[in-house]
Formats: sequence, structure tokens, C-alpha cells
Amino acid sequence: QSSDRVFNFAAGPATLPENVLRKAQSELYNWRGSGMSVMEMSHRGKEFLSIIQKAESDLRTLLGISSEYSVLFLQGGATTQFAAVPLNICKNDDAVDYVVTGSWSDKAFKEAQKYCKPNVIWSGKSEKYTKVPSFDDLKQNPEARFLHICANETIHGVEFKNYPTPNNQSGILVADMSSNFCSKPVDVSKFGLIYAGAQKNVGPSGVTVVIVRNDLIGNAQSSTPVMLDYKIHAENNSLYNTPPCYGIYMCGLVFEDLLEQGGLVEVEKKNKKKAELLYNTIDESNGFFRCPVEKSVRSLMNVPFTLEKSELEGEFIKEAGKENMVQLKGHRSVGGMRASIYNAMPLAGVEKLVAFMKDFQAKHA
Ligand code: PLP
Repeated sequence: QSSDRVFNFAAGPATLPENVLRKAQSELYNWRGSGMSVMEMSHRGKEFLSIIQKAESDLRTLLGISSEYSVLFLQGGATTQFAAVPLNICKNDDAVDYVVTGSWSDKAFKEAQKYCKPNVIWSGKSEKYTKVPSFDDLKQNPEARFLHICANETIHGVEFKNYPTPNNQSGILVADMSSNFCSKPVDVSKFGLIYAGAQKNVGPSGVTVVIVRNDLIGNAQSSTPVMLDYKIHAENNSLYNTPPCYGIYMCGLVFEDLLEQGGLVEVEKKNKKKAELLYNTIDESNGFFRCPVEKSVRSLMNVPFTLEKSELEGEFIKEAGKENMVQLKGHRSVGGMRASIYNAMPLAGVEKLVAFMKDFQAKHA
């Protein structure tokens, strides 16, 4: 990457691929001869229609999404989906199962309490959210309308490596994939619904992608606001009202870039390599650095770690900043450090971080 850019380890909004930013820069003022910026286009004009259609079709190719699913580009962040999901796919007295593996699935559960009867069937809270349940541990309610998981907990750094099979009456699995969306191949057909805020792996904040099986559309609770009703958005190809046009355009450029890299199989290989390098450095530090998360479920995207000498954390973050590595402070709720190493973090960024960590240890051990 260029020397005037930092290595940005933020959890989201997060680093974007430099080539994507440069492409957007080159088209900022006059998009492909249209005489206007994407920011200035009518969302109903032919130019923007070609942008949103291409973004959808590239995302379908990337994730192998069949025509049984609708792809929606919405607003309101993943937080809005915490409400939209129960409002759209269950009645307000339906039982629903939630697996709570960290702060985000806990928030999803709490919001769902307003719109259905959710039940936490497993919680990692007593073990400080360092684990993911084995599927035998899940006491699913056969009457539940859906099973909800957070595929990757951004704050705690735990990630499902395979997905539970819902054995509820309708067999619906719902996943918040905000922080590992498009970081690896996913068998979409195993899910009733996937949602993800764009601002980690696929674009700027302001766009939320929802992938929903068509049979789950059209039964929203009667009090559902029009902006949260999947049917309205699906029927209007995400153009019921003014969508986040520029954000969708940026997501489209990222999808194109991921396809050019060879698709998600190749992307996952790169992500595994980066994560392995960082986790190995932590594990081989003789306890100087520690990652509390159980090894088998460590996230490829968000790597939380602490220092044995916690009083050195401030210095670690400050010194890293001087070397142009920023946003390494852990989430305020857990402390320590966190390196988010999404798709767009180059291997060179992780190599620089681990070299810095080894130096820091040599100085302070
Ligand atoms: N779910 C996960 C896993 C997240 O990481 C986040 C945000 O960081 C959210 C939900 C909330 O997303 P938003 O801020 O887009 O509403």
C-alpha cells in the first residue's frame, strides 16, 4: 500500500482496498462519461440502475446466491435488522431461539424481545464470551420460529466455523454476518436469512445487505414500519425510497475486486494466512501476549489480545501509532487490544504488526 496510508486495524468503519478507493477517486467527478458523480445521480436513472444491478449480480456470483433468495440493499445498519428480522419472519407471540456468543448476539436478543418471544438457548457470558457452543449443547425449542446466531462476534473475536442445523418447526437459521461477510465462502442455502452491515468487509457505513429466502417475505407483522418490511424492498428492488446510492456503488466496486481476486475461496486463503501469523505470534510469546478465545473458534477477522503487563497497553497503542498502525485499542467493554484484519488489510500490515509486537516484547519482557 502507499506510504501515505496507515495500516488501519479498526473494527468498522474499516480499511478498504486501496485500488477500490483509487478507482472511486478516478470516477468521483464524472462517472464513466455520464457527466456526473454517482452522488449526484437519480436513483431511478439508467446509470444508477446499472450500478445497483451489477452490485447485486456480482454479490450473487461471489456467494452463489440462488434465485430462491432476494438480495436487499438497505439502511439502518445491522442494528435495525435486530428488529426487522422478528418483525418480518415471526408473529409477536412466536417463540424464537437465540444463541448468545457475545455483545452483538446479546443486543439482537434484547431487541427481539419487543417483537416476539425469544429465548436464549446458550450463552457464553459466564466464560466471558470465549466460546461457541457445540451443537449438541444447543437445546433447541422444536416450536421456535427461527434460530438466530451471530456468525462472528466483532468485539469478542469468536467465530462459528460451521453452522448449527435448526431443528425448529420451520428450519430457519438466521445469521448476523456483519463482521465476516464475504470473508470466506458460505453455503447460503443453509440459511433463511443473512444480514450484514457493509462497513467491515464490503464498503462504507450506511448500507446493510439482507439476503432472505423468498418464502420468508410477505408475512410481516401488521405494525411493521414500511421501511422495515422486506416485501416492500424486494418488490421495489431496494428502490422503494432513496437508497444509500454512493455506499451501494462502493460495495459494488468491492464485490468486483473480490471477484477479480478469484472469489471467496482465494479471499479466505489470504485471510487464514494473516490470522495464523497473528495468532501464532500471540501464542508463541510465552504469555507476554494472550488471546482469551478458544483456539478452534478464533475469528479470522477480529483478533482480541491482552498484555500480561496490562500497564503497558497504553504504550503499545501509542508506539504502534507512531509506526502508522492505528485503531488497535480493544472495545471499551473488554479492554486490551484488538486487531481487525478484514479482507482489505494487506498481509504487509499484519507482518508489520507482528514485527512490532516481537520488538515490543523484546524491549519489555
Ligand atoms: N452486528 C455485528 C456483528 C457488528 O459488528 C455490528 C457493528 O459493529 C453490528 C451488528 C451493528 O451494526 P450497525 O452499527 O451497522 O448497526
